[in-house]
Amino acid sequence: MATCISKEISCPGCTAVNKRQMWIEIERSADPQLREQILEETLFDWQCPDCGYQARMVYPCLYHEKQGKWMVYLSPSGRTQQVIDAERQYPGLSDVKKRLVLTPAQLKEKVMIFERGLNDVALEMVKLALQELTERKQQARVERMYFLTDSEELDYLGFSMFLQGEEKPVYQGVRLEVYEKSLQAAHRVDFTETGFQQVDLAMAKTLLEQ
Ligand SMILES: [Zn+2]
Repeated sequence: MATCISKEISCPGCTAVNKRQMWIEIERSADPQLREQILEETLFDWQCPDCGYQARMVYPCLYHEKQGKWMVYLSPSGRTQQVIDAERQYPGLSDVKKRLVLTPAQLKEKVMIFERGLNDVALEMVKLALQELTERKQQARVERMYFLTDSEELDYLGFSMFLQGEEKPVYQGVRLEVYEKSLQAAHRVDFTETGFQQVDLAMAKTLLEQ
């Protein structure tokens, strides 16, 4: 079951005070609609019932699968006391992947990766290689990059990349063997499941440098 709290917020547009539902804990199979909203990146969108003002208000939210082997904590302020408390609440789960993400887009990405049974450490290594390649080719900095899709049939893993100053993403794919190689590398590096960890490009870089 999902845990929902309601909080009064004052509209930045008209100052009217309204109650807002906030989903602080979501279980995947019990809440298919909330899962959809995560994948559409609309879960944190808010609209004022009085004036129609729209805003995205991101708050801490723990997403997990009861039977599954993973949980993702979205915490816009990073590793807060709340995250540490959640670690205490779910101790000793060394076979469970626990991740910390900062944005709704990162939450969506982790959900997509884990639902497909992919290894996110390996995927971050693939992304790192793609980032370096793209930056060399395009002579522009890659600001954000997300896993998009995979297809065995097409022998393809797809990513979207946002180059500095560009609003629209560019799409880039690699063959599955690139992922397989990264997967082997991911098993060789010194990575252990502990608390809620930020598995991202920076971590991939650190792991590969070691
Ligand atoms: Zn309003």
